[in-house]
Formats: sequence, C-alpha cells, structure tokens
Amino acid sequence: MIPKIKGTQDFLDLGLLQFVIKQTSDHLNLHNFNQIELPILESADLFKRTVGTETDIVNKEMFIIEPRVGSNETICLRPEATAQTMRAFLEHNIQVLPWKVFSYGAMFRYERPQRGRYRQFQQCNIEIISTDDINQDVLLIGMLDSLFSTKLQITNYALSLNFLGCPEDRINFREKLTNFLQANLEICETCQKRATTNPLRIFDCKNETCQKIYVTAPKIVDHLCEECNVEWKQLQNHLELLGVSFAIKPDLVRGLDYYNKTVFEFTSPDLGAQSSFCGGGRYELATQLGHKTAVPSIGAAFGMDRILIILETIQDRLPIKPKPALTVILPLEPKYNMLALLVAQNLSQHTITNDIILEDSSIKSKMRKANKLGPIHCVLIGENEQATNSVTLKNMVTGNERLVKQTKLVEALKG
Ligand code: AMP
Repeated sequence: MIPKIKGTQDFLDLGLLQFVIKQTSDHLNLHNFNQIELPILESADLFKRTVGTETDIVNKEMFIIEPRVGSNETICLRPEATAQTMRAFLEHNIQVLPWKVFSYGAMFRYERPQRGRYRQFQQCNIEIISTDDINQDVLLIGMLDSLFSTKLQITNYALSLNFLGCPEDRINFREKLTNFLQANLEICETCQKRATTNPLRIFDCKNETCQKIYVTAPKIVDHLCEECNVEWKQLQNHLELLGVSFAIKPDLVRGLDYYNKTVFEFTSPDLGAQSSFCGGGRYELATQLGHKTAVPSIGAAFGMDRILIILETIQDRLPIKPKPALTVILPLEPKYNMLALLVAQNLSQHTITNDIILEDSSIKSKMRKANKLGPIHCVLIGENEQATNSVTLKNMVTGNERLVKQTKLVEALKG
C-alpha cells in the first residue's frame, strides 16, 4: 500500500467544493472579473524576485523540480498565484486596464502539515492589476466581504486591516523600527535575524516575550506620509460607508515581501490555529520583473481547504444542489445486458441520471447492489419485458411495480 504524500488530501465528495466554486465564480463574474488559468510549473526565479528571498515561502518552502541533465533552468511548483498573474499580465501585454481576473488552482508549500495547513492546497486568487485608485481596494474588500457573508453564508469571521505606506514610508519606518529593535535585546533569535534582513516581519513572531515587547513598538500607520494618510483614512471611511466591519491591526504585515499600502486578512475562530482564510493587499511587482514602469495593483487569495473546514459544520443549511434522482437499470440475466445498454443510452440522451448493474450474479445480489446506489427507480429487464418491448419500472420508495413500454419509459420517469 502506498499512502498519499504527507500534507496532501483526497477529496471523494465534491458537493461542497463545487458549491463554493459556483457561488464564487458567479459573484466574481457579476463584478466583471474574468476567470483565467495559469500553469502549476513556473520558473523558481519568478518567486525569488517577487515574493522575496527572505520569506519562508521562498527560503524554505518551495518545491523545486530537479532540472533535466544539461538544463540550467530551475522550475518549481507554484507556491502562490499573484506573481504568476503579474507575469502573465506582462507577457501578454494586456491593454484593457485595470485587468480584473481570478483563478483557482493548487499551490505547493513545504510546510509542517496540520489541520488547515497542507503542502498542496487550493486557492482562489483574485487580482485587479494596473490601478492605484484606493477605491479599487474598497471594491475588492467589499466584494470579498459580501461573498463570504452572503453567498457562502459564513457568519463567524473578522476582517483585519492595516496600511503599510508607500516604499518611502517603508524605508523611513524601517529605520525607526530597527532603532527600536536595537534597544530591545531580549527578542528571539529569529527576530534578531529579521531585524537586519526584513524588520517588518518581526510582527509575525509568535514568541510571547517578543509579542509583549512589540506592543510598544512604533506603528507604521502613525508614520505615513501625507498622501498615504489621506488614502488610509479614505479606505476606512469608504468601507464603513459600504457597511463592511473591520478592525485595524497595526501588526498585520503578512508573510510576503511585496505588499505596500493596504493589507488585510479575514480570519475565523472556527479554524483553530490556522485562523486566516483569506489575505491580500496592494503590491508592485512589475519593476521587479524587469518592466520599465511600475504597475500598481491589488489582489487577494483565499484557501478553499479552509473555506471547506468552515462550511462543513453548516453545510446542511446551504443551498447545495441535491444529487439528481438516480435510475438503476437491472438486467435479470446477462443476455439482457445489451437491451439494458440501449435503455441506458436512451435515458442519458434525455438527461436522466442512470446506472446499470452488469455483474453476472443472482437477482438477489443484483438487487442488493442496486439498493446501495440509492435509486428512486429501478428498471428491471427480463424475458417477459424483452418479449413485449417493455420494462418493469419499480418505484424504490413505494415498492410499486408496473410494466411500461420501452418507448414510454422516459415519459414515465420524468412524470
Ligand atoms: P497567502 O498566499 O499566504 O497570503 O495565503 C492566502 C490564503 O491561502 C490563506 O488565508 C489560506 O486560506 C490559504 N493558505 C495558505 N497557505 C496554506 C496552506 N499551507 N494550507 C492551506 N491553506 C493555505
């Protein structure tokens, strides 16, 4: 027996996932976002240059594919979709701006697996590329909020918001934060390292001593330039006017290097330790990919696996499409199998969901097999039925049986 790879999952019933995908796609289409699909394989350099070499994702978690002998290309399984959506935007020279797109797909990160944290997981990724209007941030966050609360009926969640300022604000703030960290020598080893490589990331530290120290650390929202301050106020104000509830979280920095200005996160207590189910923010990646000019953008990603965990407890209340009624065709002996195949073909052509019991076993055993499939009707075919161009239609709920002409079977089942 070869078991599945650690940190991966098998999905044997797709009902809930299909509900989430349908609701999400309808909602995003309604807001004029177009669905795209991008490859799972990408150049590892794409993520090194964008996500950042000091982030866990690139530093420790990338699945690198061994290149073929003689190839100097390093390929990886994508760990996230924003960088590749930006790559696609530049590669296809998109002209209708902003480019509003979304995609679903598997992402790969070599993380320590636990509930809600997998090495292969599925994200829905949404981007508005090439816009610096803060109201696009309002639109994206508002749209996600209504998707979660109304379309997916998630009630138990919170939205956290922070503003990281423009690159100049980040440079100024980095200096202030570094000074603060240098004066606090009790911080953990990881934070000491981050203090020199990527000081903002210290806020992600879970160490209690560090957390206590950071309560008094300078907050970036208190050190924004005038222009950023106006945008930050407008973002809050417009979200309030749209009726979106949020909490300001000054230590929300998110794990990736490329964010600036708006960052946000949706969390749910139903998820336990991995409480975040959607995260996003504003970013500029084009210049890091060699483009001459900046392409300001905003995006978000939510994890399907975590959405499914949240919805599992309330799925009975959700308007999930029931499975169509099943009709099982049961040839009583192998010599009636061909007639059964013809009947099945006819039912399929008339969109009646059906299955056939083709095993050569006793009628009793065939009947048991048919029952396990949970049909509403069984269609029995034996000698008498073949001779009279009929079938016996058995209602599995009432137990009633009647002879029906083969030409009238569809009508009888639809009726
Ligand atoms: P990120 O790309 O890190 O901003 O994550 C966005 C969302 O993807 C998170 O809020 C989670 O819902 C989901 N996610 C990230 N990493 C994992 C993982 N290892 N397993 C399951 N879901 C994940």
